[in-house]
Amino acid sequence: MIKPCLAVIQIGDDPASNTYIKAKAKACDEIGIYFKHIKFTEETKEIEVINKIIELNNDEYVHGILLQLPLPDGFNADKLINYIARNKDVDGLTDINLGKLYNNKPCLISCTPQGIMKLLEHENIDLEGKNVTIVGRSNLVGKPLIGLMLNKNATVTVCHSKTENLSKHTKNADILVVAVGKKEFIKENMVKEDAVVIDVGINKEDNKLYGDVDFNKVKTKAKKITPVPGGVGPMTVAMLMTNVINAYQKQQKKSV
Ligand code: NAP
Repeated sequence: MIKPCLAVIQIGDDPASNTYIKAKAKACDEIGIYFKHIKFTEETKEIEVINKIIELNNDEYVHGILLQLPLPDGFNADKLINYIARNKDVDGLTDINLGKLYNNKPCLISCTPQGIMKLLEHENIDLEGKNVTIVGRSNLVGKPLIGLMLNKNATVTVCHSKTENLSKHTKNADILVVAVGKKEFIKENMVKEDAVVIDVGINKEDNKLYGDVDFNKVKTKAKKITPVPGGVGPMTVAMLMTNVINAYQKQQKKSV
């Protein structure tokens, strides 16, 4: 029997990426997914990466393909990602999968936003009609999350670096999701009493990890809050495993 297989493509040697790839490899090992790590140097030509993606697309022994982000300067992440076959795009970042998500059609969903939705579901937090504020509009987190929240009938506000009077929007949130990448950026006075706060940020300082939310102060005000580390991060890895298994099962069905 063919075993599920995840292929991770890395370009360069970013230390944070090395850590994340190790965590993915460990999770795969724990649940019996074969893990393939393809590492290119920063000097690699774009065409070589494209050819590798095409080779993996056509390899029946590979069921999920992930391009580890961020890429070194000079590489176009959007272009490369869109070479990944949509049924192997376990990061849910191709235009096809993102478009399907916005149209509420079955697709592979980006892992971090999917993990956030699972956390909320697990805590029985009803989103219908609730004010959800998302701070950050990256393709990886903020943008897919808008679609997922809308599909659950939440009222969604999206903030970014050009947003004026940010606190006005964060204080209006029943559910506040922060994905900015700035240590303890959200302070207690920016959060509504009894809000649910989801901290996506991972900021390393003096070998310690911090979120985007001032956890110790905000936790006294929020109804629920995710810690960093140990909150959204492990959910992202769990959702990646789920996506690989789902992609594997669909591909196996097609091949019989
Ligand atoms: P990103 O691509 O750098 O996006 C950051 C977003 O924050 C942008 O939309 C930016 O606005 C916005 N922003 C920056 N400064 C702001 C300000 N002063 N006020 C309001 N918005 C501001 O980052 P990302 O990939 O989404 O990641 C965000 C954080 O989450 C990072 O710490 C990353 O390490 C972490 N992360 C964690 C996981 C996990 O599994 N836990 C997964 C992915 C990412 P503009 O669009 O206007 O530039």
